[in-house]
Amino acid sequence: MTQSKLDPGNAVYSATILAGDPWIHEVRKGQYFRIVDLHGNQAVDTLFYNAHDYSDRYSAQGTIQNQRNLYLSAGTQLLSTEGTVLLTITADTCGRHDTLGGACANESNMVRYAIEKRHMHACRSSFLKAITEWGRGLSKRDIPNNINFFMNVPVTREGGLTFEDGISEPGKYVEMRAETDVLALISNCPQLNNPCNAYDPTPVQVLIWDA
Ligand SMILES: [Zn+2]
Repeated sequence: MTQSKLDPGNAVYSATILAGDPWIHEVRKGQYFRIVDLHGNQAVDTLFYNAHDYSDRYSAQGTIQNQRNLYLSAGTQLLSTEGTVLLTITADTCGRHDTLGGACANESNMVRYAIEKRHMHACRSSFLKAITEWGRGLSKRDIPNNINFFMNVPVTREGGLTFEDGISEPGKYVEMRAETDVLALISNCPQLNNPCNAYDPTPVQVLIWDA
């Protein structure tokens, strides 16, 4: 657990992302970016792009390989497909974040839960909605593997992926410093079929501080 010294009263930007909503915003080099799990155990599906070249985007594989660890926490450098350090996690009061589990989709709703869940709201649709509204040429094929902030997906000794109950609590946060100008894209997960959020998606807060 690493606490931040930054005062929310000095933030230059603050917004609440309602349960199930997408959010897209640029974070400039040197700025600090915090996500607050307001009610606890909310999954915050997140992607980052190099703001000057959207083809250079978050790489789960590169990030894991670079730190030789599967879990994200304070000290983790979030790497891009081109090896650019996009952001560094500087504070984390939750202690573990997932980048293996992927984002929920209409297709996974159907496969994991039931055929009739297909049309229920899912993260990949939220990502697509946000990048379409953002304009600037991003499309469905620009949605790579993502980070699931506040999600607990431990790997077993045998290498199995397990989706466990969350370890986050109301007010827990993760904070990172942008190491280059980045475009941040969030789907505040709308999933109603996964017990990780107690079947109850809730709002989160995002804050930005200048360097
Ligand atoms: Zn989701």
